Amino acid sequence: MEHITELKSLLSIPKDIALITHRNPDGDAIGSSLAMFHFLQHLGHVVKMITPSEYPDFLSWMPGIEQMLVYDEYPDGIKSVLEKANLVICLDFNALDRVDKVGEIVYGLNIPKVLIDHHLDPEPFADYVLSDITASSTSELVYDFIHLLGWQQFLDVRVADCIYTGIITDTGSFKYGTSAKLFRVVANLLELGINDVVLQDLINNNLSEKHLRLLGYCLYHRMEILEEFHTGIITLSKEDYVKFDIQRGDTEGIVNYLLRIPGVKIAAFITEQPTIVKISLRSKGEFSVQEIASQHFKGGGHRNASGGASFIGLRPTVRKFKELLPLYKEKLSAE
Ligand code: 5GP
Ligand code: MN
Repeated sequence: MEHITELKSLLSIPKDIALITHRNPDGDAIGSSLAMFHFLQHLGHVVKMITPSEYPDFLSWMPGIEQMLVYDEYPDGIKSVLEKANLVICLDFNALDRVDKVGEIVYGLNIPKVLIDHHLDPEPFADYVLSDITASSTSELVYDFIHLLGWQQFLDVRVADCIYTGIITDTGSFKYGTSAKLFRVVANLLELGINDVVLQDLINNNLSEKHLRLLGYCLYHRMEILEEFHTGIITLSKEDYVKFDIQRGDTEGIVNYLLRIPGVKIAAFITEQPTIVKISLRSKGEFSVQEIASQHFKGGGHRNASGGASFIGLRPTVRKFKELLPLYKEKLSAE
C-alpha cells in the first residue's frame, strides 16, 4: 500500500469515518466492516457503517451489526452521515457502481477515500488502495492493514472474531482461496483468543427448516446437469419465490452444491428477481467464471465466484447461458 505513513497520520487524529460495503453484503463484507469499525473506534474515531441493502440474518449475532446503516431503509440519514464524514473507507468491492446510490454520493465527496479489496481490477477512485486478489478475503486484508499501520495492539479478540468470520465465509471454511499466509493469520487470530469452533458453528449451522426444504426442492426439482459441458444449473422462477416465501439470504450457498458432483466444473444459479434475472456462478480449478459474468452478464467477481444480471427474462437467460457453453467446451474438457 502506497502512502501508508500519510494515511497513518490522517488516522492519528480523531475523525468522522464512513465505512462502505457492497449490496447484498456477505460474511466478508460484514466481517471486514465490523472489524474495521471496532478497530477504528479503539483509535478514537466516530465510525458509521453503510451498506446499500439489508444484511443476512445468519450474521445477526455479530457484535455491532445492529449499527449497520442500510441505504434502502435510511437514505436521507446516510446522505447526511456521508456529508459529515472526513474520510471514507470502501470494503470488499472494486467499483463505485457496486454500491448504487451510495457510490454516486461518495463519488462527489471531496474527502480522502480508502479502498481495501480483493477483487480483480479495482477502479481508480480511491486515494489509498490496499488491493490484493491473492487474499482470501477483504477481512484478511483488514488484518494486513492493521499490521501495515503498526497498530496491532488495537486488534483485540472482537476485531479478530470479525476478521475470522469474513475469512470463513469467503473461503467456504478453508475450502478455497487459502494460502500458507492465511493459515498464519488464522493462527494469530487463535492466539488472540477467538473461539474458532463456536464461531464456525454460529456461521455454518444457521439454516432454518424453510431453507433446508428450499434446498431440497432446488436439488430435486430444479437442478439440471449438463455432463457434456461439465456444468450444473439450478433455476428459480418468480412463482417459486412466492410458493416458498423466499427472502433475501434464503438461497445463499445453494449454488455450491452443484460443485459436489466430481465432473461439474461450472455451477450456475439463475433466479428470476422482480426486475432482473440474477446469475450466480461458481467454478472449480482454473476455469474462470469471471470471464462469463463480465463478458455476457454485465457482472464480474472472482475467478471461481462471480455474478451478473440479465434483462431478457428467465427462460431466455437460461437459454443464453446454455448457448455459451460450447464456446468453453475445450477449456472445460482440458483440465
Ligand atoms: P454471488 O453469486 O454470491 O451473488 O456473488 C459472487 C461474487 O460475484 C461476489 O462476491 C461479487 O464479487 C461478484 N458479483 C456478483 N454479482 C455481481 C454483479 O452484478 N456485478 C459484479 N461486478 N460482480 C458481481
Ligand atoms: Mn470478499
